[in-house]
Amino acid sequence: MRAVLYHGREDVRVEEVDSTPLGPGDVRIDVEAAGICGSDLHEYAAGPIFMPEDPHPMTGASIPLRMGHEFAGRIMAVGDDVTEHAVGDPVVVNPIRYCGSCRYCTAGQQHLCASIALTGVSANGGGFAEQSVVPAESVVPLPESIPLRLGALVEPFSVALHAVRQADLTAGDSVAVFGAGPIGLAITQLARAAGATDLFVSEPRDARRERAADLGATTVDPTDTAPIHRIKRATDGGTDIAFEVAGIEQTYNDAITSTRRDGTVVVVSMFEGPVETHPNTVVMAERTIEGTMSYTAGDRNGSEFRSIIKLLDDGQLDPEQLITDTILLEAVPEGFESLRTPESEQIKILVEP
Ligand SMILES: [Zn+2]
Ligand SMILES: [Zn+2]
Repeated sequence: MRAVLYHGREDVRVEEVDSTPLGPGDVRIDVEAAGICGSDLHEYAAGPIFMPEDPHPMTGASIPLRMGHEFAGRIMAVGDDVTEHAVGDPVVVNPIRYCGSCRYCTAGQQHLCASIALTGVSANGGGFAEQSVVPAESVVPLPESIPLRLGALVEPFSVALHAVRQADLTAGDSVAVFGAGPIGLAITQLARAAGATDLFVSEPRDARRERAADLGATTVDPTDTAPIHRIKRATDGGTDIAFEVAGIEQTYNDAITSTRRDGTVVVVSMFEGPVETHPNTVVMAERTIEGTMSYTAGDRNGSEFRSIIKLLDDGQLDPEQLITDTILLEAVPEGFESLRTPESEQIKILVEP
């Protein structure tokens, strides 16, 4: 079958690969759609970052490695020990792999596992392929009422929901979002669903700003307006919460100073390097800075994956709004190139094998 393999920086190839044998606790999925993530793009443009050059200590995976960690499909085979899933079931894959024995795993924080790996990043079974074999505990059932291709958006929306939960966002809060890529737009949708009132989005790209405006946000172009002044003027000195979703020095500092005293800043981005910041902006205003990393592992009650599936089923989110293109496996290398162009109007590209 065909799959997209990551060989190194700017070296992503569509290849014919052997299909993975099905272990007794595994399921084989006929992949319907897989999203290209900002972190995939980082690996392509500046990696390897998380893609293991030496075998990953827990999974043994190393590059060349099959990419794709945001995907959905239908189960086409189950291993002998799998009883909870059946052939034909529509599912989403939760890519988190964890050891089960470190202090975080035993405390129920598997997403912070000391030897964490992700399917399609540091574990085999990536979704840029016709089929994927993953452990049965990685799959989350998707109701037939949700189009299968939209299942690929459950992962990025779960990242956004975890960030919103870290912020303790409640109805009536004022919110600023710095960066309107897929995660920034998903946070904007979820902040709306959670009852945010004054909602600001700062984003330099026109196409992304327009989408944020469609969601009811007040948009700011940071290249022609100082976003913090506008936000502070409109919110009596700052928002309750800010989300940093761009990963650069300016947005890091703007996110902090755009909040009110005693406000909360959630840092969602992965940064390519250190930034310069003044700690007094946090100290003197008693602000709180929170990190947020992925989402709850596996399939469990109250997990972000399950909550997002319910919100999608309930019509409270609009995943189509994030999708700007759908491509075939063969076009994945060009997809990466189009996403990295600064003037690109792309947001989320779906790959349909
Ligand atoms: Zn992702
Ligand atoms: Zn662990």
